[in-house]
Amino acid sequence: MTETTTPAAGEELTRLTAAAMADRLTAGELTSEQLVHAHLDRIERLNPVLNAYLRVDAEGALATAREVDAARAGGEQLPRLAGVPVAVKDIACTEGLVTTAGSRMLAAWVPPYDATVVRRLREARMPILGKTNMDEFAMGSSTEHSAFGPTRNPWDLDRIPGGSGGGSSAAVAAYLAPLAIGSDTGGSIRQPAAVTGTVGAKPTYGGVSRYGVIALASSLDQIGPCARTVTDAALLHEVIGGHDPMDSTSIDAPVPPVLEAAGTRDLTGLRVGIVSELTGEGYQPDVQARFDEAVAQLREAGAEVVEVSCPHFRYALPAYYLILPSEASSNLARYDAMRYGLRVHPEGVDRPSAEQVMAASRDAGFGDEVKRRIILGTYALSAGYYEAYYGQAQKVRTLIARDFEAAFEQVDVLISPTAPTTAFRIGDKAEDPMAMYRNDIATIPANLAGVPGLSVPAGIAGDGLPVGVQLLAPATSDERMYAVGAALEARLAAQWGGSGSVLDRAPDVSALVDAFATTASSADREVTA
Ligand code: GLN
Repeated sequence: MTETTTPAAGEELTRLTAAAMADRLTAGELTSEQLVHAHLDRIERLNPVLNAYLRVDAEGALATAREVDAARAGGEQLPRLAGVPVAVKDIACTEGLVTTAGSRMLAAWVPPYDATVVRRLREARMPILGKTNMDEFAMGSSTEHSAFGPTRNPWDLDRIPGGSGGGSSAAVAAYLAPLAIGSDTGGSIRQPAAVTGTVGAKPTYGGVSRYGVIALASSLDQIGPCARTVTDAALLHEVIGGHDPMDSTSIDAPVPPVLEAAGTRDLTGLRVGIVSELTGEGYQPDVQARFDEAVAQLREAGAEVVEVSCPHFRYALPAYYLILPSEASSNLARYDAMRYGLRVHPEGVDRPSAEQVMAASRDAGFGDEVKRRIILGTYALSAGYYEAYYGQAQKVRTLIARDFEAAFEQVDVLISPTAPTTAFRIGDKAEDPMAMYRNDIATIPANLAGVPGLSVPAGIAGDGLPVGVQLLAPATSDERMYAVGAALEARLAAQWGGSGSVLDRAPDVSALVDAFATTASSADREVTA
């Protein structure tokens, strides 16, 4: 049963979509063990440079694979994705497997339980390959704020793979996993998808349980799927979605029919609205050009496209960067060196007080961006300023939600570029937090309002890097964005040829990694800004 595959055959296997893997497993043409081995081989070869995975669980993944293969051989009826491997962002707790959230604070922390999303992957019998890199506590748009080094973009190793979920997007784009779990508080699934030529969905707030997912900003956080095709994202969405009594904000309703919607090709009668505030100025011209072409494709697919204005989106960024730090400063108060995580003995103090231990531990455990946001959030929440900052931002949030409501009275789905630029160079925005924040301009409104968003590839810009477009739908109507995303994907695929994936046109990442490893030591390669 465990006939070995040659390396070349293994490579081929990693190229399959998750849907195709599932079909071939069901047909008995493939074993899960072969699939897992193929991915582990590739991870071993490429991950030392890409740094997409922080931790690989070869043993665990192989054990699940063998169980699935045995069950299938025994004629057991299995879930659709049984045996298809998956990667998990290091923000979701995995029982017995270190979970760091990209922070020194949790560098050695082993969770005593599984997040609901992880439990659902296990119930779906999906081998978990490992935990993916991320900006510390999911704060960032580049994965450069990880305490464990940046992840590299498989399209260009000197560039960022987006953030905070750059590990998951890079793993999927480099065929180190067919599927991955991400989390999106302000764009951390969608923007990484856009800059790596992959698909990423942020479900409706409450659509996927947050239980056991390390909290950044609880009113914004949402778990979702990362994939290479819209159908694959929908398949994973259906596995992880649905009500969970362990999360008080979880929606008690069936998962929207996203998989069925992913079969849509004809958009006749569908109304699509271009968000005026999320195009034009500030967007890289060829990002705008790919966006315009995508819109033209939707028209050809039968959609009626109009422009709609969401005037308060202009204030989304400042509102978000008050609400997020406020909630984060409160959530991160739990890292007090007493309950779990890093504990540092302050230097030169014989019998330190609890406060001294706490201060020393938080100083050593948190990185600069996390400290910046804790300071900002604590300030915004302080007695004299609460109304002026947090209170005001919450009012803006309401206005943004109303903009969405008004827009969805006119159209079924909204569209914009996912990110204003293609992947920037590692180091480019490291010294300028505001420049980093501006990258989130198009993704943040959805989190503030709780509506779902999907990023799909829209082609390649003049710099040879992928561009993504974002589809936004009303809360609990996630299927609408999948329908439009699928129709767009199909039309672009027909135009691009090959397998129809924009990743077909990415440079060979194995060659890039070999060249990278031989040209210079990694120290020399530290960005020459
Ligand atoms: N880039 C945004 C931030 O830094 C989004 C983060 C996220 O979605 N986790 O807050």
